[in-house]
Amino acid sequence: MVFNDALAARRAAHEAGLPYVSDGELSARLTAAKKTPERGWLGEVSAVVLQQALADLSTAYRAFFASVTGKRKGPKIAPPRFRSRKDRRQAIRFTANSRFRVLGNGRLRLPKIGDVAVRWSRELPSRPSSVTVISDPAGRLFASFVVETDPGPLPGTDAECGIDLGLGHFAVLDDGTKVTAPRFLRRAEKKLKRAQRDLSREQKGSKNREKARVQAARAHARVADARRDFHRKLSTAIIRENQAVTVEDLAVKGLARTRLAKSVYDAGWSAFVSMLEYKARLYGRELTRIGRFGPTSQLCSACGGEGGPKPLHVRAWACPSCSTVHDWDVNAARNILALGRRERENARGGQVRPPVTVASACETGSRRGAA
Ligand SMILES: [Zn+2]
Repeated sequence: MVFNDALAARRAAHEAGLPYVSDGELSARLTAAKKTPERGWLGEVSAVVLQQALADLSTAYRAFFASVTGKRKGPKIAPPRFRSRKDRRQAIRFTANSRFRVLGNGRLRLPKIGDVAVRWSRELPSRPSSVTVISDPAGRLFASFVVETDPGPLPGTDAECGIDLGLGHFAVLDDGTKVTAPRFLRRAEKKLKRAQRDLSREQKGSKNREKARVQAARAHARVADARRDFHRKLSTAIIRENQAVTVEDLAVKGLARTRLAKSVYDAGWSAFVSMLEYKARLYGRELTRIGRFGPTSQLCSACGGEGGPKPLHVRAWACPSCSTVHDWDVNAARNILALGRRERENARGGQVRPPVTVASACETGSRRGAA
């Protein structure tokens, strides 16, 4: 799919007389495609597999160009062709006729291979018509099933939800739910840290370094998989249960953090928000992002009064006007929900109230500063 989309993009550019589409551009288009309902599922596939597909295409093009310009000797090489599902490199496909089976114990029975243990990323909604087993450069095997489904819009609901994405908890919802990254993800992250430390200690060029490098690459892949799995389940649950979902624009979070932490968290958040976005479109829900000056943590969500900046360690506070006692994060999520509601009303042409702005420096200084 990725290979063919990328090839189609390059051919279209060629036919329109436009310059060759670069690898970077293809990668950017892939990222954009993950936000559309048709290709949103790509966000749930290991990025390694997707990048591999793009790399395969580039290799094919390089061989073709080298052949055309005479840099490459031997028989002429044809330009890359669209791949059928059957001829995917490093992949085997089993159709229903080949009698593969998903066993009751969760194993996958493959003809001529036997019973294989599977770490399921999700339950199969119905009987799969085929399975493709792909191996990636880290030596991991992925089984991808073809299942007939027609998701379509979910039945409507009145429920709405505001989400505060944070560092302490991954997400806090306006109803008070606090979602922490699951234990297996935290454990995988710890292992990754250790693996990277080991790698940095080994002498360059040594055998041990090579071993440590492989270990670190595996740990990386496991963290990426676990995180994606966590995002997938959480985004599905939230979109299923709510008609309208509001999140803060991620630019708000990007301030006053170290570069490393920022890149790690921002990547995680934006992957999660992309999943919310495409699932919202897929299931007929509404996702609203609120602007970067939303005073989400300082206003009282009960009376709208100004609570003022508070130091980071203050996790609960009482509103000076109405004396409601607030949990910091839940109050923020409630304000996000309220801002989202207002934005949706505005979009529908309702009465417009001017947006309330609070200096962003205040917010970061009080809340995000210590991260
Ligand atoms: Zn109040």
